[in-house]
Amino acid sequence: MQDGAVSVYSPATLREALRLLAEGGEAARPLAGGTDAMVRLKDGSWQPRLWINLLRLRPDLSYIRMSGDSVEVGALTSFASLLASPIIQSCAPLLAKAVRTIGGPAVRNMGTLGGNIGTASPAGDSLPALYALDARVRLASLRGERDVPIAAFITGPGRTAIQPGELICAVQFATQSRDELCAYEKLGLRSAHAIAVASVALRLAPTFGDRGHRLARVALGAVAPTVVRVPEAEAALLQACPMCWDVVSYAVAAARAAAEPITDVRASAEYRRAMAGNLLLRGLTRLLGPGVMPGVRTS
Ligand SMILES: Cc1cc2nc3c(=O)[nH]c(=O)nc-3n(C[C@H](O)[C@H](O)[C@H](O)COP(=O)(O)OP(=O)(O)OC[C@H]3O[C@@H](n4cnc5c(N)ncnc54)[C@H](O)[C@@H]3O)c2cc1C
Repeated sequence: MQDGAVSVYSPATLREALRLLAEGGEAARPLAGGTDAMVRLKDGSWQPRLWINLLRLRPDLSYIRMSGDSVEVGALTSFASLLASPIIQSCAPLLAKAVRTIGGPAVRNMGTLGGNIGTASPAGDSLPALYALDARVRLASLRGERDVPIAAFITGPGRTAIQPGELICAVQFATQSRDELCAYEKLGLRSAHAIAVASVALRLAPTFGDRGHRLARVALGAVAPTVVRVPEAEAALLQACPMCWDVVSYAVAAARAAAEPITDVRASAEYRRAMAGNLLLRGLTRLLGPGVMPGVRTS
Protein backbone atom coordinates (compact mmCIF):
# COMPACT_ATOMS: atom_id res chain seq x y z
CA MET A 1 0.00 0.00 0.00
CA GLN A 2 1.35 3.49 -0.90
CA ASP A 3 1.70 6.14 1.79
CA GLY A 4 -1.66 7.87 2.31
CA ALA A 5 -3.50 5.37 0.09
CA VAL A 6 -6.78 3.98 1.36
CA SER A 7 -7.87 0.46 0.45
CA VAL A 8 -11.46 -0.73 0.47
CA TYR A 9 -12.34 -4.42 0.54
CA SER A 10 -15.86 -5.80 0.18
CA PRO A 11 -15.74 -9.37 1.54
CA ALA A 12 -18.54 -11.73 0.55
CA THR A 13 -18.44 -13.85 3.70
CA LEU A 14 -18.11 -13.21 7.42
CA ARG A 15 -15.00 -15.39 7.56
CA GLU A 16 -13.34 -13.35 4.82
CA ALA A 17 -14.24 -10.13 6.63
CA LEU A 18 -12.72 -11.47 9.87
CA ARG A 19 -9.56 -12.53 8.04
CA LEU A 20 -9.20 -9.06 6.49
CA LEU A 21 -9.78 -7.41 9.86
CA ALA A 22 -7.19 -9.68 11.50
CA GLU A 23 -4.62 -8.93 8.80
CA GLY A 24 -5.37 -5.20 8.87
CA GLY A 25 -5.05 -4.91 12.67
CA GLU A 26 -5.28 -1.34 13.98
CA ALA A 27 -5.31 0.09 10.42
CA ALA A 28 -8.59 -1.62 9.47
CA ARG A 29 -12.05 -0.22 10.12
CA PRO A 30 -15.41 -1.82 9.29
CA LEU A 31 -17.80 0.20 7.15
CA ALA A 32 -21.51 -0.54 7.53
CA GLY A 33 -24.13 2.05 6.42
CA GLY A 34 -21.45 4.75 6.23
CA THR A 35 -23.68 7.44 7.78
CA ASP A 36 -21.13 8.26 10.49
CA ALA A 37 -18.08 7.14 8.54
CA MET A 38 -18.66 9.46 5.58
CA VAL A 39 -19.05 12.51 7.83
CA ARG A 40 -15.90 11.65 9.84
CA LEU A 41 -13.94 10.84 6.71
CA LYS A 42 -14.84 14.19 5.22
CA ASP A 43 -13.92 16.19 8.32
CA GLY A 44 -10.68 14.22 8.66
CA SER A 45 -11.35 12.88 12.17
CA TRP A 46 -11.24 9.25 10.95
CA GLN A 47 -8.36 8.32 8.62
CA PRO A 48 -8.26 4.51 8.38
CA ARG A 49 -5.92 3.04 5.78
CA LEU A 50 -8.18 0.05 5.26
CA TRP A 51 -11.97 -0.01 5.08
CA ILE A 52 -13.73 -3.36 5.32
CA ASN A 53 -17.05 -2.69 3.61
CA LEU A 54 -19.68 -4.96 5.21
CA LEU A 55 -22.51 -4.35 2.74
CA ARG A 56 -22.21 -7.77 1.08
CA LEU A 57 -22.63 -9.46 4.47
CA ARG A 58 -26.21 -8.18 4.80
CA PRO A 59 -27.78 -11.58 3.98
CA ASP A 60 -25.97 -13.01 7.06
CA LEU A 61 -25.87 -10.07 9.46
CA SER A 62 -29.17 -8.26 8.86
CA TYR A 63 -31.87 -10.13 10.80
CA ILE A 64 -34.16 -9.86 13.80
CA ARG A 65 -35.09 -13.11 15.47
CA MET A 66 -36.45 -14.58 18.69
CA SER A 67 -34.38 -17.07 20.61
CA GLY A 68 -36.37 -18.31 23.64
CA ASP A 69 -37.17 -15.21 25.71
CA SER A 70 -34.51 -13.17 23.94
CA VAL A 71 -34.38 -11.04 20.84
CA GLU A 72 -31.28 -11.13 18.65
CA VAL A 73 -30.58 -8.39 16.14
CA GLY A 74 -27.84 -8.75 13.51
CA ALA A 75 -25.34 -5.88 13.48
CA LEU A 76 -26.15 -4.84 9.91
CA THR A 77 -29.87 -4.45 10.61
CA SER A 78 -30.91 -0.96 9.52
CA PHE A 79 -33.01 1.33 11.68
CA ALA A 80 -35.77 1.14 9.02
CA SER A 81 -35.81 -2.67 9.34
CA LEU A 82 -36.01 -2.41 13.13
CA LEU A 83 -38.98 -0.05 12.86
CA ALA A 84 -40.74 -2.35 10.38
CA SER A 85 -40.24 -5.44 12.56
CA PRO A 86 -43.28 -6.89 14.39
CA ILE A 87 -40.81 -8.59 16.79
CA ILE A 88 -39.27 -5.25 17.78
CA GLN A 89 -42.67 -3.56 18.02
CA SER A 90 -44.04 -6.20 20.39
CA CYS A 91 -40.94 -7.47 22.25
CA ALA A 92 -38.71 -4.38 22.38
CA PRO A 93 -40.98 -1.30 22.12
CA LEU A 94 -38.38 0.80 23.96
CA LEU A 95 -35.85 0.22 21.19
CA ALA A 96 -38.51 1.08 18.59
CA LYS A 97 -39.28 4.36 20.38
CA ALA A 98 -35.60 5.29 20.49
CA VAL A 99 -34.87 4.33 16.88
CA ARG A 100 -37.89 6.30 15.64
CA THR A 101 -36.11 9.52 16.71
CA ILE A 102 -32.98 8.83 14.64
CA GLY A 103 -32.20 11.13 11.70
CA GLY A 104 -34.55 11.10 8.71
CA PRO A 105 -35.63 8.31 6.32
CA ALA A 106 -32.32 8.27 4.40
CA VAL A 107 -30.24 7.86 7.57
CA ARG A 108 -32.66 5.26 8.94
CA ASN A 109 -32.43 3.28 5.67
CA MET A 110 -28.63 3.15 5.65
CA GLY A 111 -27.67 3.47 9.34
CA THR A 112 -27.29 0.22 11.25
CA LEU A 113 -27.62 -0.82 14.88
CA GLY A 114 -24.04 -2.16 14.83
CA GLY A 115 -22.83 1.20 13.50
CA ASN A 116 -24.59 3.12 16.27
CA ILE A 117 -22.83 0.90 18.82
CA GLY A 118 -19.52 1.06 16.96
CA THR A 119 -19.56 4.87 16.90
CA ALA A 120 -20.12 4.82 20.69
CA SER A 121 -21.37 8.39 20.82
CA PRO A 122 -22.97 9.18 24.20
CA ALA A 123 -25.72 10.80 22.09
CA GLY A 124 -26.37 7.65 20.01
CA ASP A 125 -30.11 7.13 20.30
CA SER A 126 -30.22 3.34 20.38
CA LEU A 127 -27.75 3.23 23.27
CA PRO A 128 -29.86 4.36 26.28
CA ALA A 129 -32.50 1.85 25.16
CA LEU A 130 -29.88 -0.93 24.87
CA TYR A 131 -28.50 -0.07 28.34
CA ALA A 132 -32.03 -0.15 29.79
CA LEU A 133 -32.60 -3.51 28.09
CA ASP A 134 -29.33 -4.92 29.57
CA ALA A 135 -28.25 -5.75 26.03
CA ARG A 136 -25.19 -7.85 25.25
CA VAL A 137 -22.97 -7.21 22.25
CA ARG A 138 -21.74 -10.30 20.35
CA LEU A 139 -18.25 -9.95 18.90
CA ALA A 140 -16.82 -12.31 16.32
CA SER A 141 -13.19 -12.82 15.33
CA LEU A 142 -11.09 -15.63 13.89
CA ARG A 143 -10.60 -16.72 17.52
CA GLY A 144 -14.36 -17.28 18.01
CA GLU A 145 -17.20 -15.30 19.59
CA ARG A 146 -17.63 -13.49 22.90
CA ASP A 147 -20.56 -11.62 24.45
CA VAL A 148 -19.99 -8.36 26.33
CA PRO A 149 -22.62 -6.33 28.25
CA ILE A 150 -23.22 -3.05 26.43
CA ALA A 151 -22.12 -1.02 29.48
CA ALA A 152 -18.75 -2.83 29.53
CA PHE A 153 -18.39 -2.65 25.75
CA ILE A 154 -18.65 1.15 25.51
CA THR A 155 -15.73 2.60 27.44
CA GLY A 156 -15.87 6.30 26.51
CA PRO A 157 -16.94 8.73 23.81
CA GLY A 158 -16.02 6.99 20.55
CA ARG A 159 -14.25 4.22 22.48
CA THR A 160 -15.19 0.57 22.86
CA ALA A 161 -13.68 -2.66 24.17
CA ILE A 162 -13.45 -4.07 20.64
CA GLN A 163 -10.11 -5.75 19.92
CA PRO A 164 -8.25 -5.63 16.59
CA GLY A 165 -9.70 -8.35 14.37
CA GLU A 166 -13.14 -8.27 16.02
CA LEU A 167 -16.46 -7.36 14.45
CA ILE A 168 -19.78 -6.61 16.14
CA CYS A 169 -22.00 -9.32 14.71
CA ALA A 170 -25.18 -9.09 16.84
CA VAL A 171 -26.93 -7.60 19.83
CA GLN A 172 -29.05 -9.64 22.17
CA PHE A 173 -31.49 -8.71 24.98
CA ALA A 174 -34.42 -10.19 26.91
CA THR A 175 -37.90 -9.39 25.61
CA GLN A 176 -39.90 -6.72 27.42
CA SER A 177 -42.97 -8.07 29.20
CA ARG A 178 -46.39 -7.09 27.86
CA ASP A 179 -47.44 -5.20 31.01
CA GLU A 180 -44.28 -3.10 30.98
CA LEU A 181 -44.36 0.67 30.49
CA CYS A 182 -41.50 2.35 28.65
CA ALA A 183 -40.55 5.71 27.23
CA TYR A 184 -37.69 7.29 25.31
CA GLU A 185 -37.47 11.04 25.81
CA LYS A 186 -35.07 13.00 23.60
CA LEU A 187 -34.26 16.67 23.52
CA GLY A 188 -32.57 18.04 20.39
CA LEU A 189 -32.12 21.50 18.96
CA ARG A 190 -34.89 20.66 16.44
CA SER A 191 -37.73 18.17 16.65
CA ALA A 192 -36.36 16.09 13.72
CA HIS A 193 -32.92 15.31 12.28
CA ALA A 194 -31.28 16.35 15.54
CA ILE A 195 -28.54 14.81 17.65
CA ALA A 196 -29.63 14.46 21.30
CA VAL A 197 -28.71 17.26 23.71
CA ALA A 198 -30.00 14.92 26.42
CA SER A 199 -32.08 11.75 26.39
CA VAL A 200 -33.63 9.30 28.83
CA ALA A 201 -34.72 5.69 28.36
CA LEU A 202 -37.18 4.52 31.02
CA ARG A 203 -38.72 1.12 31.81
CA LEU A 204 -41.21 0.33 34.57
CA ALA A 205 -42.93 -3.00 35.19
CA PRO A 206 -45.64 -2.90 37.87
CA THR A 207 -45.91 -5.61 40.50
CA PHE A 208 -49.23 -7.44 40.64
CA GLY A 209 -51.47 -5.93 43.35
CA ASP A 210 -49.94 -2.45 43.14
CA ARG A 211 -46.98 -3.32 45.41
CA GLY A 212 -44.34 -1.16 43.77
CA HIS A 213 -42.46 -2.22 40.64
CA ARG A 214 -40.65 -5.44 39.83
CA LEU A 215 -38.40 -3.71 37.31
CA ALA A 216 -37.20 -0.12 36.93
CA ARG A 217 -34.54 1.10 34.52
CA VAL A 218 -33.35 4.65 33.95
CA ALA A 219 -30.57 5.31 31.40
CA LEU A 220 -29.37 8.79 30.43
CA GLY A 221 -27.89 9.70 27.06
CA ALA A 222 -25.70 12.65 25.99
CA VAL A 223 -25.04 13.88 29.53
CA ALA A 224 -21.85 11.93 30.36
CA PRO A 225 -18.90 10.37 28.47
CA THR A 226 -21.03 7.22 28.05
CA VAL A 227 -24.67 6.44 28.62
CA VAL A 228 -25.23 6.15 32.39
CA ARG A 229 -27.75 4.16 34.39
CA VAL A 230 -29.16 5.82 37.53
CA PRO A 231 -29.30 3.09 40.21
CA GLU A 232 -30.57 5.46 42.94
CA ALA A 233 -33.55 6.45 40.78
CA GLU A 234 -34.20 2.82 39.83
CA ALA A 235 -34.17 1.71 43.51
CA ALA A 236 -36.59 4.46 44.50
CA LEU A 237 -38.96 3.68 41.63
CA LEU A 238 -38.86 -0.05 42.46
CA GLN A 239 -40.20 0.51 45.95
CA ALA A 240 -42.65 3.29 45.17
CA CYS A 241 -46.23 2.35 45.95
CA PRO A 242 -48.18 4.35 45.14
CA MET A 243 -45.92 6.56 43.05
CA CYS A 244 -45.84 9.89 44.85
CA TRP A 245 -44.15 13.22 44.23
CA ASP A 246 -41.48 12.56 46.89
CA VAL A 247 -40.27 9.50 44.99
CA VAL A 248 -40.50 11.20 41.61
CA SER A 249 -38.59 14.28 42.76
CA TYR A 250 -35.94 12.04 44.40
CA ALA A 251 -35.51 10.12 41.11
CA VAL A 252 -35.29 13.37 39.13
CA ALA A 253 -32.63 14.73 41.53
CA ALA A 254 -30.72 11.43 41.25
CA ALA A 255 -30.76 11.69 37.45
CA ARG A 256 -29.33 15.22 37.62
CA ALA A 257 -26.65 14.05 40.08
CA ALA A 258 -25.68 11.12 37.82
CA ALA A 259 -25.09 13.42 34.85
CA GLU A 260 -21.49 14.48 34.12
CA PRO A 261 -22.17 16.67 31.11
CA ILE A 262 -19.91 18.81 28.98
CA THR A 263 -20.53 22.18 27.38
CA ASP A 264 -20.36 22.09 23.58
CA VAL A 265 -21.91 23.77 20.54
CA ARG A 266 -25.31 22.24 21.31
CA ALA A 267 -25.76 23.07 25.01
CA SER A 268 -24.07 24.03 28.24
CA ALA A 269 -23.29 21.46 30.90
CA GLU A 270 -25.74 23.14 33.32
CA TYR A 271 -28.57 22.96 30.79
CA ARG A 272 -27.85 19.31 30.00
CA ARG A 273 -27.85 18.41 33.71
CA ALA A 274 -31.17 20.16 34.25
CA MET A 275 -32.65 18.50 31.17
CA ALA A 276 -31.59 15.00 32.32
CA GLY A 277 -33.95 15.45 35.27
CA ASN A 278 -36.68 17.16 33.24
CA LEU A 279 -36.71 14.38 30.64
CA LEU A 280 -37.04 11.76 33.37
CA LEU A 281 -39.93 13.73 34.83
CA ARG A 282 -41.50 13.95 31.37
CA GLY A 283 -41.12 10.19 30.91
CA LEU A 284 -42.61 9.38 34.32
CA THR A 285 -45.53 11.73 33.70
CA ARG A 286 -46.10 10.16 30.29
CA LEU A 287 -46.12 6.64 31.78
CA LEU A 288 -47.91 7.24 35.06
CA GLY A 289 -50.10 10.24 34.28
CA PRO A 290 -50.04 13.82 35.56
CA GLY A 291 -51.01 12.58 39.06
CA VAL A 292 -47.30 12.15 39.85
CA MET A 293 -46.91 15.94 39.81
CA PRO A 294 -47.49 17.85 43.05
CA GLY A 295 -50.96 19.35 43.42
CA VAL A 296 -52.38 17.56 40.36
CA ARG A 297 -55.55 15.56 40.97
CA THR A 298 -56.51 13.07 38.27
CA SER A 299 -59.98 12.02 39.50
C1 LIG B 1 -27.68 13.47 8.86
C2 LIG B 1 -27.39 12.49 9.99
C3 LIG B 1 -28.28 12.42 11.04
C4 LIG B 1 -28.02 11.52 12.09
N1 LIG B 1 -28.92 11.47 13.13
C5 LIG B 1 -28.70 10.61 14.15
C6 LIG B 1 -29.62 10.54 15.24
O1 LIG B 1 -30.64 11.24 15.31
N2 LIG B 1 -29.34 9.67 16.24
C7 LIG B 1 -28.24 8.86 16.23
O2 LIG B 1 -28.04 8.07 17.15
N3 LIG B 1 -27.34 8.91 15.21
C8 LIG B 1 -27.56 9.76 14.19
N4 LIG B 1 -26.65 9.82 13.15
C9 LIG B 1 -25.44 9.01 13.21
C10 LIG B 1 -25.49 7.66 12.46
O3 LIG B 1 -26.53 7.61 11.51
C11 LIG B 1 -25.65 6.46 13.41
O4 LIG B 1 -24.64 6.48 14.40
C12 LIG B 1 -25.63 5.11 12.68
O5 LIG B 1 -26.08 4.11 13.56
C13 LIG B 1 -24.26 4.69 12.16
O6 LIG B 1 -24.44 3.42 11.54
P1 LIG B 1 -23.73 3.09 10.16
O7 LIG B 1 -24.16 1.72 9.78
O8 LIG B 1 -23.98 4.14 9.16
O9 LIG B 1 -22.22 3.08 10.65
P2 LIG B 1 -20.88 3.47 9.86
O10 LIG B 1 -20.86 4.93 9.59
O11 LIG B 1 -20.65 2.56 8.72
O12 LIG B 1 -19.81 3.11 11.00
C14 LIG B 1 -19.80 3.82 12.20
C15 LIG B 1 -18.70 3.27 13.11
O13 LIG B 1 -19.07 1.99 13.60
C16 LIG B 1 -18.11 1.02 13.19
N5 LIG B 1 -18.86 -0.16 12.81
C17 LIG B 1 -19.94 -0.22 11.99
N6 LIG B 1 -20.41 -1.48 11.95
C18 LIG B 1 -19.60 -2.23 12.73
C19 LIG B 1 -19.56 -3.60 13.08
N7 LIG B 1 -20.47 -4.47 12.65
N8 LIG B 1 -18.59 -4.03 13.92
C20 LIG B 1 -17.67 -3.16 14.41
N9 LIG B 1 -17.67 -1.84 14.12
C21 LIG B 1 -18.62 -1.38 13.30
C22 LIG B 1 -17.35 1.64 12.02
O14 LIG B 1 -16.06 1.11 11.91
C23 LIG B 1 -17.36 3.08 12.44
O15 LIG B 1 -16.34 3.28 13.41
C24 LIG B 1 -26.88 10.69 12.08
C25 LIG B 1 -25.99 10.76 10.99
C26 LIG B 1 -26.23 11.65 9.94
C27 LIG B 1 -25.28 11.71 8.79
